[in-house]
Amino acid sequence: MRLLAALEFLRHSLRAGAGEVPVSKPAGWKNIGLVAFDLLPLARDYRPFVLASIQPLGLEAVKMTVPLIAPYGGSLVDLRIPIERFEDLKAHAGNLPSLLLSERSVCDLELLATGAFSPLDRFMGKEDYRRVRDEMRLARGCLFPVPLTLPVDPAPAIKLDRQVALRNAKGEILAVMTVQEIYEWDLAEEALRVFGTQDLRHPLVAEMHGWGRLNVSGYLQVLQLPRHHDFQELRLTPIQARVRLEELGWQNVVAFQTRNPLHRAHEELTKQAIESVAGALLLHPVVGMTKLGDVDHYTRVRTYKALAERYYNSGRILLALLPLAMRFAGPREAVWHALIRRNYGANHLIVGRDHASPGLNSNGRPFYGPLDAQRLVETHSEELGVAVLPFRELVYLPGEERYVEASSVPPQAQTASISGTRVREYLNEGKSLPVWFTRPEVAEILAETHPPRHRQGVCLWFTGLSGAGKSTTAEVLTILLLEHGRQVTLLDGDVVRTHLSKGLGFSRDDRDTNIRRIGFVAAEIVRHGGIAICAAVSPYRATRNDVRNMVGTDRFVEIFVDTPLEVCEERDAKGMYAKARRGEIKEFTGVSDPYETPLNPEITFDTIRHTPQENAHFILDYLVEKGLVKRSEAHLD
Ligand code: ADP
Ligand code: ADP
Repeated sequence: MRLLAALEFLRHSLRAGAGEVPVSKPAGWKNIGLVAFDLLPLARDYRPFVLASIQPLGLEAVKMTVPLIAPYGGSLVDLRIPIERFEDLKAHAGNLPSLLLSERSVCDLELLATGAFSPLDRFMGKEDYRRVRDEMRLARGCLFPVPLTLPVDPAPAIKLDRQVALRNAKGEILAVMTVQEIYEWDLAEEALRVFGTQDLRHPLVAEMHGWGRLNVSGYLQVLQLPRHHDFQELRLTPIQARVRLEELGWQNVVAFQTRNPLHRAHEELTKQAIESVAGALLLHPVVGMTKLGDVDHYTRVRTYKALAERYYNSGRILLALLPLAMRFAGPREAVWHALIRRNYGANHLIVGRDHASPGLNSNGRPFYGPLDAQRLVETHSEELGVAVLPFRELVYLPGEERYVEASSVPPQAQTASISGTRVREYLNEGKSLPVWFTRPEVAEILAETHPPRHRQGVCLWFTGLSGAGKSTTAEVLTILLLEHGRQVTLLDGDVVRTHLSKGLGFSRDDRDTNIRRIGFVAAEIVRHGGIAICAAVSPYRATRNDVRNMVGTDRFVEIFVDTPLEVCEERDAKGMYAKARRGEIKEFTGVSDPYETPLNPEITFDTIRHTPQENAHFILDYLVEKGLVKRSEAHLD
């Protein structure tokens, strides 16, 4: 009671506002301020004022940390072995049979090890699994909405009471598991109960078809966490995040889960959320496994950093990365996200429409109702200790230059918004996202990784007989492209054979090796946004198609220089046809070796009726048409 009264007293002092310190110590109170102090959700901003308030009472503020909500289940699981046991266990593990973990299981293991899934301390055994699948609860009764299992194929090494070394794809031993349970699981049942569907458009349901038919479970000793070389300062375990949040000094922590770049509306929403509960923000993007087609996490994290550093009050935000392998289980996943965030110290979670949605099913309809996730978390909110802050739709009022809740906008007011599809169009067209929609720093990072088409790479692959006119035309085209501001590398067969492919002859194997080498270099150039012009006889269709796949078919333009053999022979610019006819050069393409004409080349041209300049301009026009060269500049001449 006395503690509560003290709390009220200090709260009252705080509200009184800076300048007046209305403190009169109630009779009989001694040093109670210190205790109360620890309980208060104090922001750094209040610190000087609080100090001033309590000084007249003769109290001293020694410690200003604020206890966060306890982890789910009371304490954080930590499966990592003490450092002094590392060498011994590593040596022991090296002699054990191995189990290769999938990327998903590596993510799961990392979060199990650090207590993000507390109170769960292992891949689920049969009893936990069954109850989680059917009732969203572990065998002991606490909530856990998503099965977290280690599926394996039957193998001699998987035996009860034996140990196995859990390795990642690089062969590193991450943990030792003592196998205590091996049980079968039923795909249809898990799919229906957990995901509510057997539709293969659901990414997890599709993935589950490739999982082993047995689940294994048992005591885990984790030797090392998976190593991450990127953004190390942001990769916080639950305990590290808690320490940092306690330092911030807010008892209320609002977690924001995301797998997308944040725009102004998100920023406004998170700021309003922390204001509404007088708390701090845990900006907690998922960087484990998200969905194919999501913006890669390197790009996303750069945008989050830029935002956190420039647009949030540093005393009210913690940016940390979550190596979670998402399940896209909609409502159940949202409950899981809440539970995980509680372990990181958050007692609020922002949940929007379609939280953790897997997209559309094979009938083109959403798998879950738009508000199902919000509702399910709300149902369990009290038990989880995590309150839901609904993600309200915010719209921009251009006239007033601010964001407001969509529901509060008068019907006649002009609003602005941009859809996800339109965002992609902006980026592909190389247009900057408007400042009212995305902070310029974020727009710039997104633009860098989504260059407009006229700055994307492409491979122009000339094929045709020797002397057909590949090099001559390619040289003219190179100059034209340079003139139009593109970066170009010319890989000419004759030249490449003097260095990269030096020593190779003209057998089929050697020719293929030559072409694949050129293809490899071209693919690298294209990946980095350059134009690779390749001019090689490349007589075999299959090899040209291999190169097309190496480069990426949408980045590959096959150009057939269709000059008949007689014409090439008549030109005989290098004097080789004559030698080949005399038999002095063996395996000469067109004479004593095959040339397979392309079936559907993107471009074919004629060197009899058209000059090299005409043909080069013809190709340039094609590239302009495809957006690969800027139209305005290309037509300046
Ligand atoms: P490749 O690279 O296909 O082996 P080159 O470009 O080295 O062929 O040689 C083509 C030869 O044909 C050159 O000597 C060039 O001057 C001549 N030639 C004549 N007309 C044309 C044309 N319209 N396009 C390209 N080359 C032509
Ligand atoms: P490929 O694509 O078959 O590896 P390249 O374009 O790399 O061919 O090299 C072909 C060039 O090498 C020809 O333009 C010609 O100058 C020269 N050459 C020498 N011997 C032969 C041969 N047997 N067949 C074709 N070209 C040859």
